[in-house]
Amino acid sequence: MDDKLQDVYDEVLGRNPGEVEFHQAVYENLTSLGPVVAKHAQYADTAVIRRLCEPERQIIFRVPWVDDTGAEQMNRGFRVEFNSALGPYKGGLRFHPSVYLGIVKFLGFEQIFKNSLTGMPIGGGKGGSDFDPKGRSDGEVMRFCQSFMTELYRHIGEYTDVPAGDIGVGGREIGYMFGQYKRITNRYESGALTGKGLTWGGSQVRTEATGYGVVFFINEILATTHESFEGKRVVVSGSGNVAIYAVEKIHQLGGTVVACSDSSGYIVDEKGVDVELLKDVKEVRRGRIEDYANARGGQARFVAGGPAWQVPCDIAVPCATQNELDEADALGLVENGCRIVAEGANMPCTPDAVKVFAQSGVVFAPGKAANAGGVATSALEMQQNASRDSWTFEDTEQRLAGIMRRIHDRCLSTADEYGAPGDYVVGANIAGFTRVADAMLAQGLV
Ligand code: NDP
Repeated sequence: MDDKLQDVYDEVLGRNPGEVEFHQAVYENLTSLGPVVAKHAQYADTAVIRRLCEPERQIIFRVPWVDDTGAEQMNRGFRVEFNSALGPYKGGLRFHPSVYLGIVKFLGFEQIFKNSLTGMPIGGGKGGSDFDPKGRSDGEVMRFCQSFMTELYRHIGEYTDVPAGDIGVGGREIGYMFGQYKRITNRYESGALTGKGLTWGGSQVRTEATGYGVVFFINEILATTHESFEGKRVVVSGSGNVAIYAVEKIHQLGGTVVACSDSSGYIVDEKGVDVELLKDVKEVRRGRIEDYANARGGQARFVAGGPAWQVPCDIAVPCATQNELDEADALGLVENGCRIVAEGANMPCTPDAVKVFAQSGVVFAPGKAANAGGVATSALEMQQNASRDSWTFEDTEQRLAGIMRRIHDRCLSTADEYGAPGDYVVGANIAGFTRVADAMLAQGLV
């Protein structure tokens, strides 16, 4: 890394002790910025980069609630409003026991550049709680969400900060939070949250958007060598929102997803994962991935523990969580002939895994580009809310496909411009950075 950027990174380490995921995200970004700093005088003193690494605002709050036995429970809530140079803070809420400030900051930092890459008027933020919705009743989830929003409402709004879903936060949770926001503020402010239900301000394709978007992005990669999904074997990790709709779109485009997973293990289904059954198990019954194998009879097998990366494939799409694919997994994928890895999740591949892909000629699409379809469609939801309009599924999906194509092309053209042809990491990091940094410089020292 360039000496000046190393100084910025050292300062980030000193100012944010123990936040390892945040350090990793900053490091990954700064390692790409050397050529930009060298080429453009306005970034040369790196002052704007130092400012970019410090959130504009960080909110941490207590979330008390009562469980079904009448016992008092307590969790911690977070919202990190990282950067508003391009628009209101925008980014999801994650409910998972692993959530702490370092995770929220890594996600918020990534979100700045992802949102910038979409070309839309949205800043970067992220939030969540160490609450675990797994095994909780609807009533418990509702009471938690209401308590969470009772603090969060004062920090968000259509022109301020617009949260959405992430791990553990889907339509049910967004519904409970929107209800409480409306009740406290006495305003039907659709633009304050995205991921809403279709009958009350939500957008078509938002549920599918991240999964579909990553598949559109891979389709663009395949098109650069005049290929398609037809006949390709694909492994998708996770079986949540992003994974399910990635599987659905891959099948629509002619590929076959032979494995997917959750935190308990993975299933292998050589004839292709039955996406309707997967939706039933995961979205309706809120079951485990083993239930899919049981319901599929002898056709699928469940493997307890461990990731699915040993299953041979042409394309791997990690869609579960950060650092779920390490160096050993990457070596296994390469040995089995995998040629494309696209991140549906945020930072699922460790830095060592990414190095393996680079050294082995595997095309690697980083999450900030490949999974930007979710937030882009959230921005489309905001547009529809602002104009009190709602578009059809086909129209919205077409817009999403166009956005993913433009992000893909922007990554490649930027990589070319900075002497790293075909390097999606360099392209995404530099293209995402320059748009935000230029807006920050134009807006003065704020
Ligand atoms: P969901 O909660 O719907 O699904 C998460 C999936 O990942 C589940 O199958 C879950 O399994 C698995 N998982 C979660 N944590 C772990 C873990 N520590 N180890 C192994 N598996 C785990 O979340 P989403 O699908 O919404 O999000 C998945 C990823 O995509 C995240 O990185 C998120 O930040 C990213 N993302 C999501 C967007 C969206 O629109 N939803 C937008 C852009 C990125 P289990 O049920 O067993 O925990």
